[in-house]
Amino acid sequence: MAYISVRETDGYDYMAQHFLLSRRAKTLSLATVFRMSDAEAETVFRDVRWPDTDGAPVCPACGGMDAYEFRRASGALRFECRACRKEFSITSGTLFASHKLPLRIYLAAIAIFCNEVKGKSMLAMSRDLGLSYKAAFVLGHKMREAMAAEMRGRTLGGEGSTAEIDGAYFGGYVKPANLRENRVDRRLSEHRTGKRKVVVVIRERGGDSLPAVFKSEAAATNFIRSHVRPGTIVNADEATAWDRLHAKYEMKRINHGEAYSFDGACTNWAEEYFSRLRRAEMGHHHHISGPYLLRYAQEAAWREDSRRVANGEQAQRVAQLAMAHKPSVDFTGYWQRRAA
Ligand SMILES: [Zn+2]
Repeated sequence: MAYISVRETDGYDYMAQHFLLSRRAKTLSLATVFRMSDAEAETVFRDVRWPDTDGAPVCPACGGMDAYEFRRASGALRFECRACRKEFSITSGTLFASHKLPLRIYLAAIAIFCNEVKGKSMLAMSRDLGLSYKAAFVLGHKMREAMAAEMRGRTLGGEGSTAEIDGAYFGGYVKPANLRENRVDRRLSEHRTGKRKVVVVIRERGGDSLPAVFKSEAAATNFIRSHVRPGTIVNADEATAWDRLHAKYEMKRINHGEAYSFDGACTNWAEEYFSRLRRAEMGHHHHISGPYLLRYAQEAAWREDSRRVANGEQAQRVAQLAMAHKPSVDFTGYWQRRAA
């Protein structure tokens, strides 16, 4: 990796050149996707769905490998399993099940989603791809659900590793305040309405991240204890919620009222994460509160952790995750519920 020079200082990596400007990152452009024929897009998804058989269909119902291939009058590609006679498509039983759009559009959506490093507004996505806002919204959340699948069961840290934990409040209609006393006031008042939630993130320095959503930082203790391995040095700010972690971990505390980095203690990685999530909230998604806050938090974590992965590889991973994922937990029956 000649074009990236990394120097190590107090455990942090500083990149001499912004990775997104390097040639290696630009491996999947929208132009590439739109030059593809529908058949080529189908081949991409077949390879991602059935990597073990080089794209040859495997029946999702019985695992049979002998399927008859045909097209519906609409041109949609279908298979019929010769063993169990069930009909299926490339996306049957996946996150993109019962897709109504050409696969090329799904690939374009993934490319746009990965290429927009600060997070993509689904309103902009709907305009880019000529979709309804609702279709883009659901598609965006399915991609977030795919990203989240990579975090399932994740544990971080261990002997010799350092992790940072921090929390930040999201949701409601109050603009985040800068002053400490305002912050506290707002938390308390919003606590009572229950609209504001705290996103707590664990970030292993030089490793991966794991966010979760709670009513308060204090409610996150068990989550941290079960996802941060013993032996990890844990950095946290002065919030009393983290005091209980001293029993299990070696802790480094930083009082942000006094300094941002002191005696090796800091939460810069965690704050980098929150600035990304905050940008997504402000710039693109408006109010990312409510049931989808966790998904936005997971998207931001995925993007932070993948920030040096070429965007073509990112797109490949999202497609793989989506095709290996069962139909959406969040959006199963979404259209039916909408219609009702
Ligand atoms: Zn079958």
